[in-house]
Amino acid sequence: MDSNLLRKLPKVDDLLNETEIQSFERELPREVIADKIREVLDEKRKSILLSKDETSVPQSYESVVLDIVAALSLSKIKTLRRTINATGVVLHTNLGRANISAKAVNAISEIAGRYSTLEYDPDTGKRGSRHTHTEEIIKKITGAEAAMVVNNNAAATMLCLAALGRNREVIVSRGELVEIGGSFRIPEIMQESGAALVEVGTTNKTHLSDYESKINENTAALMKVHTSNYEIIGFTETVSVAELKELGKKHNIPVIFDLGSGLMTDLKAYGIYEPTVFDGLKEGADVVLFSGDKLLGGPQAGVIVGKKEYLDLMKVHPLARVLRVDKMTLAAILATFEEYYDAEECKKNIPVLSMLTTDRDTLKCRAEYLAQQIRDKCGDEFTIKIMTEKGMVGGGSAPSAVLENIVLTVTHPKISANKLAQSLRQGELPIIVRIHDDKMILDVRTIFDEELIMIAQKLSDIIA
Ligand SMILES: *Cc1c(COP(=O)(O)O)cnc(C)c1O
Repeated sequence: MDSNLLRKLPKVDDLLNETEIQSFERELPREVIADKIREVLDEKRKSILLSKDETSVPQSYESVVLDIVAALSLSKIKTLRRTINATGVVLHTNLGRANISAKAVNAISEIAGRYSTLEYDPDTGKRGSRHTHTEEIIKKITGAEAAMVVNNNAAATMLCLAALGRNREVIVSRGELVEIGGSFRIPEIMQESGAALVEVGTTNKTHLSDYESKINENTAALMKVHTSNYEIIGFTETVSVAELKELGKKHNIPVIFDLGSGLMTDLKAYGIYEPTVFDGLKEGADVVLFSGDKLLGGPQAGVIVGKKEYLDLMKVHPLARVLRVDKMTLAAILATFEEYYDAEECKKNIPVLSMLTTDRDTLKCRAEYLAQQIRDKCGDEFTIKIMTEKGMVGGGSAPSAVLENIVLTVTHPKISANKLAQSLRQGELPIIVRIHDDKMILDVRTIFDEELIMIAQKLSDIIA
């Protein structure tokens, strides 16, 4: 082995002084840059040792610099970064579920970087409670007697069952023992909470008498779980919250309703038939549990509303401290509920709702604009078709919603759909698409207006 070959590799110190490499010092610590240089040089050293000849020695000093610049550019990309969602799935769990409103974003930045009245009452100068901020507005908007916010709906369910049902029994229909993505299962959460699950009925049919026959002195609650990500159709029967309430009243047992999505506005006109928080309360549920980042359109959180006597038990439960939310979430939840003061405006300001209620003409316009942008930037390299497709709400919500989405199928004679999708995912701003029948599909329902041109630009970069 000719060790002179290895000596042809540049020195770390020389490379650190290269202007192009130095410019990264604005974003990355010098040590990180030096490590990256060593990493690239190590790779080159290895391939020289493997091939043992001139062929794997870098062509020039400049080519080594270029490789290092490329490696540094890659390493400064954050793993958690913005993406463009061109899948049309509004509540895309992997892409962060709900985008919060501009007001909620501002509320976070106002509270996060400075001191706040999180647990302080400026009127008395004494300690306050973090619950008061959100409780007042949630009570006002939902009409519930009491409210609290925890980390997510899984936490809300856990806290509720632990506070009301530990060492006692909670009755649930076999048709409602749901699993939500990411290992949330009603029977398991029940077990963790210390409440004993009493299953009644069958998968497709549960009668009120099934619940009644299992009630005894150790029954803590009747629980209804909204089957938010599936639907049982055909020969079926379920018991409504109102019926459960009747029964609960007779035996002095509370009814818990795990609603899931937290829908706060009627979306039937848009093809979405989901119970709302108001439905749950109106039917008489003593406690209603829902997510902050599903159809409510806020930050990740679990919202608990209902009777004060039950909420009081949850607030003082040791788990409440474990599951509590931070000031940023509180600020965003508060701002999100404020949006609901105006039942029409909220459909424009809350991204989840505005996406779900976008009318067909707007979607069509957006699709045509995107097609035009792609043609402007890429000539006739791509074949583009605009079509109507059935859309999905996503996030385990409203599985039978009938959304009509407008999509572009974009195909290239030489680049496969998979390759295109993969290229779109690369870089600082990944664009996520769907593939169907070997065709790339861009669904404009979830694409923000300013992103249309970015998609066209990236496609043009890919073919270049
Ligand atoms: C989504 C969902 C949950 C879990 O909520 P997270 O906020 O994701 O923890 C629990 N129950 C039901 C019925 C749901 O739909």
